[in-house]
Amino acid sequence: MNDCVFCKIIAGEIPSKKLYEDELCLAFYDIAPLAPQHFLVIPKEHLTGANRINEENAAVVGHIFAVITKLTAVLGFSDGYRVVTNCGDDAGQTVKHLHFHVLGGKQLGSFN
Ligand code: AMP
Ligand code: ZN
Repeated sequence: MNDCVFCKIIAGEIPSKKLYEDELCLAFYDIAPLAPQHFLVIPKEHLTGANRINEENAAVVGHIFAVITKLTAVLGFSDGYRVVTNCGDDAGQTVKHLHFHVLGGKQLGSFN
C-alpha cells in the first residue's frame, strides 16, 4: 500500500490547487506557504528524495526545472525566486516524495 500523500495528490485522492500537470510531473500550491508565491513541483514517479536521483532517472529533474522556468514567468516572478529540495531528516524533509519548493514574490532571506 502506498500511503504517500503526494502520490495521493497525483492520483486525485487528495485535493490540491493544481498549477500544471504533464506526463512526468505535477505542480501545485503548497498548503502552508512560506512566501507570497510558494508552489511545489514533483515527479510522478515516486522517488523518496534527492538522494534517489541517479543517471537513469535524472532527466525528470531537468524537465522539472524547465517547467519551473515557464511557471514563474506565467505567475510573474521569473526575475527572482528560490528552488529548494529538502533531503532526509537532517534537512527537515517531511514528505518522503521528491519535491522542489519554488519560493518567490518577496525578498527572500539568507538561509546560511
Ligand atoms: P518538506 O518539509 O520539504 O518535506 O516539504 C513538504 C511540504 O509539503 C511542506 O511545505 C508542506 O506544507 C507541503 N504539503 C504537505 N501536504 C500538502 C498538501 N496536501 N498539499 C500541498 N502541500 C502540502
Ligand atoms: Zn509518492
